[in-house]
Order: sequence, then C-alpha cells, then structure tokens
Amino acid sequence: MATTPFDGDLIPVPEAPRARSAWTRLAAAFPFALMAFVSLVELALADRKYGLFTGGFGQSRAVDTPGEVALFLAGYVAAQSVIGLAGWALSLRLARRGPAWAPCFVFALLNGALFCGVLAAQYQLHSYFSDAVGFALLKQLGGGSLVDAILFGLSEIGLALIAVAALAAGAWIAWKLLARLLPPGLARLSAPRRSLCAAVFVVFLAAAFAIPRTGSDAAFGLNRTLAWQALTGTLDLASDVDRDGYGLFGIQHDTAPFDGSRHPLALDVPGNGMDEDGYGGDLALVPLAAPLGPQVFADNRPHVVIVVMESTRGDVLGKRVNGKPVAPNLEAIAAAGGAVAPAYSHVGFTTESLKSIFSGQIAPREGDPSLFRDLKASGYRIGVFSGQPEDFGGISETVGMRESADVYVDAELLRDKRAFDFAAQGSLLVDESHLLAAFDSTLGAEDWQARPHFAYFNFQSPHFPYHHDGVPARVVDTPIERGAIGADKAEHVQATYWNAVANADAWLGEVVQRIKAKGVWENTVLIVTGDHGEDLFEDGFLGHGHVINARQFGTILVANRPGLLPAAPLALADYRAILTAALRGASPPAPAAPPFLHIGPLDTPTAIGLAGPDGTLTSLRLDTGEACMVERGECAPHKTFTGADKARIDAVIARWGSERWRMHERAEER
Ligand SMILES: [Zn+2]
Repeated sequence: MATTPFDGDLIPVPEAPRARSAWTRLAAAFPFALMAFVSLVELALADRKYGLFTGGFGQSRAVDTPGEVALFLAGYVAAQSVIGLAGWALSLRLARRGPAWAPCFVFALLNGALFCGVLAAQYQLHSYFSDAVGFALLKQLGGGSLVDAILFGLSEIGLALIAVAALAAGAWIAWKLLARLLPPGLARLSAPRRSLCAAVFVVFLAAAFAIPRTGSDAAFGLNRTLAWQALTGTLDLASDVDRDGYGLFGIQHDTAPFDGSRHPLALDVPGNGMDEDGYGGDLALVPLAAPLGPQVFADNRPHVVIVVMESTRGDVLGKRVNGKPVAPNLEAIAAAGGAVAPAYSHVGFTTESLKSIFSGQIAPREGDPSLFRDLKASGYRIGVFSGQPEDFGGISETVGMRESADVYVDAELLRDKRAFDFAAQGSLLVDESHLLAAFDSTLGAEDWQARPHFAYFNFQSPHFPYHHDGVPARVVDTPIERGAIGADKAEHVQATYWNAVANADAWLGEVVQRIKAKGVWENTVLIVTGDHGEDLFEDGFLGHGHVINARQFGTILVANRPGLLPAAPLALADYRAILTAALRGASPPAPAAPPFLHIGPLDTPTAIGLAGPDGTLTSLRLDTGEACMVERGECAPHKTFTGADKARIDAVIARWGSERWRMHERAEER
C-alpha cells in the first residue's frame, strides 16, 4: 500500500496507476470473456448432441451453409448480448455494497455457473427423453408406475441438489480467496450506457421477429440454444394478444394476431370462408370411409389367424441377405395367396398401429367395434400370444382384446421370460418360442373342427435393438451389439435387422405348420402384417414415426388366399373391412379413401401425408410448411409447388382437416 508523500496524513490510495489500469482493463474484459466461453461451450454441446452444424442422426436441418451460419450467428450473438447486458446490470445492482470486484464475481455466478447449470439440466433431460420431454414418457420410463416415475425423477433431483451444494461451497471458497488476494481500493466499474442497452435490444427484437420468418435452418438451430429459446419464448407469450397460444415470435407464429380462432393448428371449420389454420384455404370436406359397425358372422366361419411382425418393412418380400432369403415362409404364403406392399401405417408407431389394425379406424375410441369384439360375438375361441405387453398404450382396452380372449398371453404375463433385463413396460420383449409354447398348451391343443378359432400372434424379434439371445444366426453370422449401433455401422445394423425379421419369419413357418397339422389350413384365413416399417440409417435416421416415407410408414400385408386383398394403396385401418369381407366370402372392398399418414396426435400433428396410386407419397410438415413429393425425393416450401404437385398437397391438407373435423364432431356426439 503506497501513501502520498506530500500530505501529512497517511491516506491509502490505489497502488500505482499502472496496476489500476491493468485491473480496470481486466475487469472490463471479464464479462466479454465469460460470455464468449459459455457460448462456445453451448455451441459445442449443441453440435455434439444435435449435430447443429455438422448434421447427422435425427438432424435434417443442420446450419451448414455460409448464409445459414451467418444468420445463425447474428441471432445467437444478439441473444447472448441481451442476456450478457442484463446479467451485468443485475450483477452491478446485487453487488453494489461489496468490493469493487464483486460485480464480476456475481456475473460469473449468474451468466457462468447458472447458465451452464441450466444447460446441463437441459441436456441431461434430453439424453433420457430425446427431444420430447413429457410426463407420459417419464411414466413409461418408470415401468408405467407413477411411483417408480417419481422415484426415478428423485434420484436425478438428488444429484442436482448435490451439484448445487458443491457449487455453493466452491463459490464461498472463491469469494474468501479473492478477498484475500485482490488489493482493496480498486476502482468500481460503471454500468453500461442505456443507449447501448436499448440498441442491443432493438437489434435482438428485429432478429427474433425476422429470422423465424425466413424458414432457414438457422431458425431451427437457434431454437436449440438457451438464451434465444428463453427470450423468444417470452416475447411470443407476451405478444399473444388474442390468447390462442401463438404470438408473433417463433417459427409457428400467429398470422392473425387479433383473432383467437385463427392460428397454427387451429381447427378449420369447413365452409365458413375462413382459413383458420393457415393451410389450404377454407376446409372443403372430402368423403371418408364410414366406420364399420359391429359385425356378427353366422355361417361358414373360417378360422382366423393374424400374425403381426414388429417393425417389418414393406420391402421384406424378395429380400436377400448374403444370398439367403429373409422371409421364405412369408414369400410362400404370398405366392399362394396375395400380398400388398407397402401397406401403410397411419402413425408409424406400435400402439396406434395395432389399434387401427383391429378397429378399422385411424383414431378409434375405447369401446368402438373391433375384430376382437366381432369374433367374440360370433362364437369364436380367441387366443392372444404376444411378445409385447398388449396393455401398453391402451391397445387391449381400446380394441377389447383382454375382455374377448379365452387365452391371453403377453409379455407382461411372461415378464420373467423377458429377453432384456430392463423391465419398463415399453421395453418388455418375449421371444417367439415362449409364445408358440403357450399356444401349444392352450388353443393349439383344442379341437378346431368343433368351433371356429381366432389366434393373434405378435412377434417382436425385429424390434430395436434387432437382436436378443434367442435369435439364431439366420442370414448373418454375428449381429451388431446394441452399444455399437450407429450411422457409421449402417450396413451391419441393416443385416442384423434382417436377421431378426428372418427369425420372425421362421416362427411364422412354425405357426403355419401347426395349423396344417391340425388339418384346418384350407379353412383358415391367415394374414401377416407389420405394425409399421423401420428406417435403418438410409437417410441418417434410425427408427420409425419420425419422417413420412415408405420405409418408416410402409409394411406388408400378406394373405394366404388369393383374391382376398384389394389393390394398393391400402392402410392398416382397411384390414378389418378386408377380413370382414373374407369371412363372408365376399370380394375385397376397395378402400374408400387413400392411406392418410400423420406424425403426432391427429389434432396437432407435426407432419401429415397421403399415399396415392403407383407408389406416390405426399407429405407436409405443418411446423415448417415444407412439403415433399416423397417418391421423387423432392422437398420445398409448400407454396412453391404448382399444378399437379400443388393438388397433391391440397389433398393432404383437405384429408387431414376432414379426419380432424369428424373426430371433433364425434367427440361432441358423446
Ligand atoms: Zn412397432
């Protein structure tokens, strides 16, 4: 500590001008350095998790052209500047009584530690729930039990509390150290100028309004970042004047800000001259298939066997791997009877697909007529032999499976025979051998001449991760291990998947042998189908229900009798009418409407699609407005299509509006 030599009193003053200015420069640069550091951390995390800049698994909208990168950085820097200035102003205020370095300390806590903490929490959640954080998923993860779900959540909360405690202790030690190390009497930093703050906020506001309206991948990238997401979300909420849930900021913004009945995904009321949802003008209803009422079969009554093979793609027929046929049994049945490929799933995931197969509807309600209820009322002996839990997602309840079945065997009942240790309901899987054993000791041991029988088999071998210990090497020697599955191993993943399909096909052969051995093959209607397809990294995706295309939404329908199936295209909700005609000995009905596809709930889908003749498939993303002529691999903003292509897109929108309108009308009837 120096003293001034020319006055008598010893007044302490800051050490030396050089040290003081060094401190001032360092302190002034600190907030910028901290913001730069946390920004780099966030962008690196986002790229690792979502492929923000590099693209990859699950990411079709990478920020990867110079224009997109420039737009992204403009928005990102604006948002980071806003929270940087706000954090700095708050730090100055909170630390106004402390030492000169206290604002920097508080800023490090707020914009450094807190920001990174929120980032960590967000990525931790996403690592469990992928992109869709929802309580329903949390419940599934807890094995369907609410208590398990909360316990599961608690262990995470416990970890978070420990982290917060460690951080607080670290902050306390850092404060003590700094108080000892830094010299007293340092100059205080001033607050940022108001004009600068105002200018930064105006720039951000302009970016938040304009960038989402460009439809650029930059807008989707920005939605992956914390400050942009929080700030635009708040602005969107604040600008939602008509309280319809959509404001002026965001990719899905309100184009009618003062009309609560018009917003994205608004119910389009037909014939009122108003385009409530902003797609396809006012809704003009298209004719839909009338839901099939309850059926009773009196005479003849052939046996019915339905085999559902999980995730089995439409291109399974004729598929060869290492020169070996994947599905020789399926091919033999198709050759003698008939096949339609692809047959489309409406939603591309298991539970809703099974409901459609048995109810004959896209979105059945609990208690609606179903094949199970029809055959029960017609005096059939009914057996369920499923490698998955049929209560999952309300399948059994919706189509009356458990209540109709005389024998009910599923993965829940065979829980102790599950193929994987993980016991959450959504991932229970039981090998086909156990299902056939259950069949042999029950329905299979009965006299089928005396009474008509209905057996439903659900084979789960082809489910992700495409291999379990019960699957022998059928078309490949070594299956890929679960942990090794990745886009860089696409070929091995595909071979493993086809090996699993081959396994399901082998068990299909066993089912056919059993029926033939009982001497009732000629009097049995057998159909084989998948519940949906599977993308195997063909476009970077693994799984189903993500993107509307024939691989994810297409499966097969094979029947053992010729003339039983109508011509393509058809979808799962058409099966019940086809079977009804077959049981009456009538010719197959032509589907009343082409296959309608959607991702997400029918009321609020993120994408919709329609299959046409000759393998055409049209899709429209309602969140981004991007339409695709899928079979041509051509995607563009929907408004840029003209002529026949525009008509295809309009047909998708009209069909969605009509399905949705009917659903609302039926809900009001109740
Ligand atoms: Zn499935």
